[in-house]
Amino acid sequence: MDYFFNETQEEIRELAYRIAVEKIKPLRAEYDENGTFPWDVAKVLADADLFGCYIPEEYGGLGEGLLSGIIVAEQMARICSGIALVFGGTLLGTYPIILYGNEEQKQKYLPKIARAESLSAFSITEAGSGSDATSIRTTAIPDGDHYVLNGTKQWVTNGGEAAIYTVVCITDKSRGARSATAFLIEDGAPGFSYGKKENKMGIRASATRELVFEDCRVHKNQVLGKPGHGIRLAMNTFNMTRPVVAAQAVGLAQGALDEALAYSLQREQFGNKIFNFQSIQNMLADMATSIESARLLLYHTCRLAEEGKVDVTKLSAMSKLLASDMCMKATVDAVQIFGGYGYMKEYPVEKMFRDAKITQIYEGTNQIQRLIIAKELQKEFNRNLKNV
Ligand SMILES: Cc1cc2nc3c(=O)[nH]c(=O)nc-3n(C[C@H](O)[C@H](O)[C@H](O)COP(=O)(O)OP(=O)(O)OC[C@H]3O[C@@H](n4cnc5c(N)ncnc54)[C@H](O)[C@@H]3O)c2cc1C
Repeated sequence: MDYFFNETQEEIRELAYRIAVEKIKPLRAEYDENGTFPWDVAKVLADADLFGCYIPEEYGGLGEGLLSGIIVAEQMARICSGIALVFGGTLLGTYPIILYGNEEQKQKYLPKIARAESLSAFSITEAGSGSDATSIRTTAIPDGDHYVLNGTKQWVTNGGEAAIYTVVCITDKSRGARSATAFLIEDGAPGFSYGKKENKMGIRASATRELVFEDCRVHKNQVLGKPGHGIRLAMNTFNMTRPVVAAQAVGLAQGALDEALAYSLQREQFGNKIFNFQSIQNMLADMATSIESARLLLYHTCRLAEEGKVDVTKLSAMSKLLASDMCMKATVDAVQIFGGYGYMKEYPVEKMFRDAKITQIYEGTNQIQRLIIAKELQKEFNRNLKNV
């Protein structure tokens, strides 16, 4: 299949898939069962120069841009989307620095991330603030050259493992989200600790944890981007990283199809390979078609996002929406093709089914993606009216 990849992108795809098969496949069931964080896989990726493939060359990466990150995330998720999240979660933590970091911040953090010496994470969600990111309550009150952080962030991917966190707080209670500001907080900062680690349905090799701030003093040099622009920073970051969730979903669905196809060609009932039953063929054909559609929208979105000439808010939301709904259906069907065996932990589709659900939830639920898409349609309509 030709996706118009250049030679480097094709090499990255092949290498990432080989690493996934050789290094991740033997670990996935155990890491899922025990909730083991895949530091070893991060190191393998870094040794192959893949962990920082999207990070600009001047900061220690390969400089291959967002599409290369998408390719790696997809190939890893094809084998295990929980382990893949050590890479995807770091990408979410790193894009704010790429997009908004000043030179000093980029020099300080990006090379270490590219070598997987440090992981990064992004944190906006709180117990009372999920879809409505503007309702965050964690405060960062200015105090001379410093800010003092107080509050608890929730469900941070890579939480407790990352060394550097982009944390969005409000700096003025009376102005709320209008004062939202992003801070780079390092592991070990006084007043910063980790709270509850979640026990999850799926993606169990990924750490999801609370961040607790108790009079945590950070210097104003740790502000990322402009004060008061925290929500904008978050939304522009998501435009680049929702495609990473889409890549996770496309890879995971492809993995489910790989497994279901192989099983259908080997399992016999009524004296026939189950592949020969038309209803099984229909499911396989629908899976393959929907995976391909989601993948093409994803690559198209990434190319436009990289080029930076058009606003990709709508496409990025569409990519995530299409891929994650597709992935949920594909993994349900994969379990169905396996019959009762699909329900058993001995077979990988049971885990794929559990892993799929999160793609419809994080980085904005799919209800929220639909709202975003509808708002963008309305804006386009109004713009077109003005031009008539
Ligand atoms: C495993 C995991 C990892 C995560 N990682 C991170 C992370 O690294 N960093 C981070 O900051 N956050 C992270 N999150 C948080 C995630 O982004 C939020 O869970 C998500 O945005 C939804 O928020 P919520 O769970 O509070 O749901 P709610 O906002 O409470 O939504 C509940 C339901 O109401 C619906 N709903 C809400 N508002 C509307 C509306 N206006 N219109 C229609 N329907 C609506 C939702 O779609 C959903 O179905 C993670 C979450 C999980 C589970």
